[in-house]
Amino acid sequence: MSSSRPAYFPPGTRLGRHYLVEGLVRLAEGRMFYLVNDDRTDGDTRRCGSCLGEDSPSTARICHHCGQPLVVRRYLLSARWRGNLDPFDAFARLKLEHPGLASPFEVLRLSDQLLSVVPYRGEGLMVDEASPLPNHRVLHLAQRVVGVLAWLARQGVRPGPLTRAQLLVSPNGAVRLFDLDVTEVRADPIPPVELRPLLGDVARLLRSYTHVRATDLTQFLELGVAGDFPSPPDFGRAIERRFDSLAAAAFPPTLAAMSDVGLTRQLNEDSWRWTALGPRAEVFAVADGMGGHDGGEVASALAASTICRVARERLRDEAVTPELLEGVFRDAFQAANNGVKSEAERKGNDMGTTLVALAVIDGRHALVANVGDSRAYFFRDGQLHQVSVDHSYVQQLVLRGRVKPEEARHHPQSNILLRTVGTERDVEIDLFRLQLEPGDKVLLCTDGLWGEVDDDEIRDILARYADPRVAARELVRASHHGGGKDNVTVLVYVAR
Ligand code: CA
Repeated sequence: MSSSRPAYFPPGTRLGRHYLVEGLVRLAEGRMFYLVNDDRTDGDTRRCGSCLGEDSPSTARICHHCGQPLVVRRYLLSARWRGNLDPFDAFARLKLEHPGLASPFEVLRLSDQLLSVVPYRGEGLMVDEASPLPNHRVLHLAQRVVGVLAWLARQGVRPGPLTRAQLLVSPNGAVRLFDLDVTEVRADPIPPVELRPLLGDVARLLRSYTHVRATDLTQFLELGVAGDFPSPPDFGRAIERRFDSLAAAAFPPTLAAMSDVGLTRQLNEDSWRWTALGPRAEVFAVADGMGGHDGGEVASALAASTICRVARERLRDEAVTPELLEGVFRDAFQAANNGVKSEAERKGNDMGTTLVALAVIDGRHALVANVGDSRAYFFRDGQLHQVSVDHSYVQQLVLRGRVKPEEARHHPQSNILLRTVGTERDVEIDLFRLQLEPGDKVLLCTDGLWGEVDDDEIRDILARYADPRVAARELVRASHHGGGKDNVTVLVYVAR
């Protein structure tokens, strides 16, 4: 699949009649984002960014049509290459205007790619934001997304699944939808109830930005995931009613998570989840799925969510202790294993996943469990220690002294796992207990981090950035700088 991601347009590439590539700014699933400008002097005439008149000579300083200065303008350009691109073309031709929508300013078709261009307003991409967001930002995001979807439906536009790659975020936190997937454009409105499945995806997206301690907001969004809001107006009214009570909660910066497709893969098969167990404990899980489309991403999501669900169910009414948690983790991993295995049998594929989980009680007693080569690291006083031991062939070679630890990272057989979730009838886990002190950090990550970034650099990033959301983003960035050959997921917990 990765072979079908097109080659990048290098800086200086001319696209269409008006655009010059400044650089590739970001990759996302099924998308490549570029910054481009209209500083083109290679034609006879030059387009005015104000009136779009094209009757000025390329050397002119003032537009011959409207009299405005011909200044260089910058645009965000998104390239896509999959699926039926015709509905998006039809949507772009509508030239819809809405404050919550960055409507395509121009669309170019270039052999197998569709390029959509919007004026660049200095906004960032939501794919660069780690979770969690403060409750009020999650709710503003919800209002914005639901409002735009309802409005698009009235215009006869049926959006496809929404991902965080389709959100632009301004420095003040305002969000605009951008570069939507569009599955249908028609002359009459789309009935709002037909957007019901889409609202489940939206609620899932919002939940992924919700703090582990924001239990009221999480419960509210679970209703959306379960399909309790039949249409965007229903969802919008429900948000409105509960906005003030849900927005009021505030949380100290003690954790963050981020998952990214990387620079070469087309599909992100990693997943992470977190959940609160009553007022005193939390559970975190990171999983790296394998099995390709409709396999890996299903297995990792199922495994990570099963850990959280089983822990919640088992410990609902009990005082959480480290001893109790060990048994719960054993059962939860076995449940995740059974769930993935039966899903694999149902689908007839060979999906499986790694899984590393962390539970913290009172911010002090931590328990780590793992299967596979997703890792837990412990950071204290500027020192980084790997807690988990990889269940991999290369790790066995390291233990036997046949491979040096520093060679293991780039060993050609580093992808051979000896234990995974979902492939055998029973799964055996390793357990590690930690006592945390204020300032200690625990990092969970997939091999997309440690395969690209050595431990010294991971340590430096954890040491440098006190805010875990910034640390998470920098870890993902470091993975990209290391090559970005794999999906990458990081989860940072800071003891207080
Ligand atoms: Ca991986």
